[in-house]
Parts: sequence; C-alpha cells; structure tokens
Amino acid sequence: MKLAGVSLVKAPFFPSKRAASAHYRYRALVGIGGNEGAVMERFVRLLRYWTTRRDLFVVETSPIVKNPPFGYLPQPDFLNALAWVQTSLSAKALLRLLLQTEKRFGRVRKERFGPRTLDLDLIFFENQTLNTPRLTLPHPHWSERLSVIVPLGMMQQRNVS
Ligand code: ADP
Ligand code: MG
Repeated sequence: MKLAGVSLVKAPFFPSKRAASAHYRYRALVGIGGNEGAVMERFVRLLRYWTTRRDLFVVETSPIVKNPPFGYLPQPDFLNALAWVQTSLSAKALLRLLLQTEKRFGRVRKERFGPRTLDLDLIFFENQTLNTPRLTLPHPHWSERLSVIVPLGMMQQRNVS
C-alpha cells in the first residue's frame, strides 16, 4: 500500500505486541500524536512511562506513521501511532489519565489545530458510545483520519499474516 506523503518511522516499542493479561477489565484503543520537537523520543518515553503504571497494560502498538499535517498547513509533519491497552479504569478515568499524561509530557494548549508536543485520544473504549462535552466515544471522525486508519490497518494486517 502506498499513500502520498505517508511514511513509517521505526522506534523502540513501535511496533510491539505481547499476550493480553487476565487482570484488567477493559480494552481501549489510544491514539498517540505529536508534531513539535523530538516527537519520536517522546513516544518512546511515553511507552516507558506506561509500563510503570499498574492501571494500564499495553498489549500492542502500531508502527509510527509520519503524516503531512492537514487543515492548518504551515507546521511540521505529524507522527501518529496507536496502542491497544488494557485497563481497570473507566472511560472517564482513562481520559483523565491521558489528559494528565499530555501535560506531563509538556503539552500546552494553544491554538486548537496548531503544533502539539503530545496528543492522546481515546479512539475506542470497549464498544461504548458516549456523547458528552468532555468525552465522545468512539472518537469523532476516527474512520476518516489517516492518522488512525493507516496504523490500525497495519496492526490488523500483522494479526492475520
Ligand atoms: P483534538 O485531539 O480533537 O485535536 P484536543 O486534544 O485539543 O483536540 O481536544 C481535547 C479535548 O477533547 C479534551 O479536553 C477532551 O475532553 C475532548 N475529547 C472528547 N472526546 C475525546 C476522546 N474520545 N479522546 C480525547 N479527547 C476527547
Ligand atoms: Mg486530543
């Protein structure tokens, strides 16, 4: 498969896969993105941080995909990846953790579609649907975003071959 402008970046932890654990109740898909500063190194530090947390268990990560920015154009390329995680947190609590984690990795909210150090999105949480001001599930427009469908397709391909 070839897509204009899209390429793969290899890094420690991306891609990765291990056996699921029996100790967590839920499964969720987290979108990881960023386009400011040393993004790949930040993704690696993020995965290292997640392995220290007991409320989160990373089962599988996609390769890192490099995407040209869309919408507001004059900004660096985006790196995007996905992680299937197991968790004992509720969807709301997991979102709270993701937003705290963005802060921990230096995200300051400026313009909505401008450059960001780390963007963590909750794409799926089990098969829950939700529409509140703070949390929409599944994540809006996930099926139209190259940043989601390219890495998701790669994980699926690996699982059938
Ligand atoms: P985007 O990721 O859409 O480019 P932001 O990361 O700046 O924009 O927006 C984050 C806000 O979106 C958060 O404050 C959060 O409450 C809200 N939000 C709603 N649904 C979700 C979701 N599924 N995953 C992550 N954030 C969400
Ligand atoms: Mg976000």
